[in-house]
Amino acid sequence: MNKPKILFPSKASSSKEMHDYIYSKKLKDIDWKKGKAFCLVYYPGDDRAKLIKEIYDLYFSDNALNPTATPSLAELEAETVSMCADLFNGDENVRGNLTTGGTESILLAVKTARDWARKHKPNINKPNVVLPVSAHPAFMKAFHYFNIDFIPVELGIDYRADAKAMRNAINKDTIMLVGSAPSYPHGLLDPISEIAAIAKEKNILCHVDACIGGFMLPFIKKLGYPISEFDFFIDGVTSISTDIHKYGYSSKGSSVILYKNAEIRKFQFSIYTKWNGGVYGSPTMTGTRAGGSIAGAWAALNAIGMDGYLEMANATMEATNKLKAAIKSIKELNIIGEPDMSIIAFYSNKLDVFKLADILNKKGWHFERQQLPASLHFTLNYIHRLVIDDFIKDLIESVELAKKFSIDSFANNLQTKTVKGLSKILPSGTIAKFKKSGSASPIKKENTAAMYGMLGALSGTDDLEEIVLDFLDKINSVK
Ligand SMILES: *Cc1c(COP(=O)(O)O)cnc(C)c1O
Repeated sequence: MNKPKILFPSKASSSKEMHDYIYSKKLKDIDWKKGKAFCLVYYPGDDRAKLIKEIYDLYFSDNALNPTATPSLAELEAETVSMCADLFNGDENVRGNLTTGGTESILLAVKTARDWARKHKPNINKPNVVLPVSAHPAFMKAFHYFNIDFIPVELGIDYRADAKAMRNAINKDTIMLVGSAPSYPHGLLDPISEIAAIAKEKNILCHVDACIGGFMLPFIKKLGYPISEFDFFIDGVTSISTDIHKYGYSSKGSSVILYKNAEIRKFQFSIYTKWNGGVYGSPTMTGTRAGGSIAGAWAALNAIGMDGYLEMANATMEATNKLKAAIKSIKELNIIGEPDMSIIAFYSNKLDVFKLADILNKKGWHFERQQLPASLHFTLNYIHRLVIDDFIKDLIESVELAKKFSIDSFANNLQTKTVKGLSKILPSGTIAKFKKSGSASPIKKENTAAMYGMLGALSGTDDLEEIVLDFLDKINSVK
């Protein structure tokens, strides 16, 4: 039997040893501090980050699990929830909690809906949720965890949720509708008023996923951008998720789940009264709750404030508008829909966007590759005001280069089509095995265009699931 590759440390390391080791590793990571990443990280600048971190550090070891032990954290949490309720046009009845992220907020919203329906709609046997196909996969995770069916509904031609189609998808077992504010893939606000009105009419719940937009939409609306209502201003909205660790610019590990009132939130809580350890009540999914994240969330709202968020949102939108104009002026690229805030996705009928992505990656830029349709996704934040002109220059250059690869991408297309054809005729699992045994690792740094083309072709198949499971296993193991 071989031992694991990295052994348990036999003694303490020095600060220098650890720093050297970490810094050498960290060189491989995206350089978000230089604005190179249009995804994953949101940075409010050194001064604001320092202040938020100071407050976070005060609670580095504290555990918010038992509010009688750390009443200060319970208060900071309740205050943060109240500030968010205010931001989203809620009244004093709104209740909520801080969570570790958008996913936990969504898991809780779905679990709450399930348990709400058990009480209020006892005739439902197998509950389902109706949502647009652009809704975040955190929902599918929740449905899987909590054994709930879901009915995904195609988008309208404007790439927003199609409220009419959602209405038609509802059946007697539907317990909740979902809309995004905005959707992550395309940055488009779903017609929340219409969706919420349907939910109210049908006497079911309506969740608004404002994970990415919650700390942008209210501010850019104030700045004069045309943003339709999406929050508790609308009567039928019963819960909202919003991530402070995205455009709230707090430390990672903080999101908010809000409910219209205490009666709904009660279905979120977990209680066990017969344990030897005493009566156990816990508001969210985790047991131990990181004090730092709660204090950090509170600190972000207070360290930045309305004026700070307005300033950052304004700068972010100025950078976004520049990028939008640049993309519109490049005739090979088409923006998907009419983005409402600082997320832009584009596709192309004239060049292979994944080839373009490879070229931009080589220039040090990071962003997301998307499918259905094949597109590139850019989430801009405050930091991008400093680099957007450089990026636009590189984008224009890279488009010219990508056009030269038309023959290459033709080969990719051919490969994609072949794979697509094969996946239809070969027994399920064959292509996954073929991929595994081949030399091509799931993620190749240099030329990913062919691979992404293939993944797109396999979307929704068992083969792709196997490839991704294998990839997750590899990436979550020591090299
Ligand atoms: C990021 C995001 C989520 C998930 O949030 P995590 O913090 O990554 O768990 C859910 N919905 C939308 C729209 C998002 O942008």
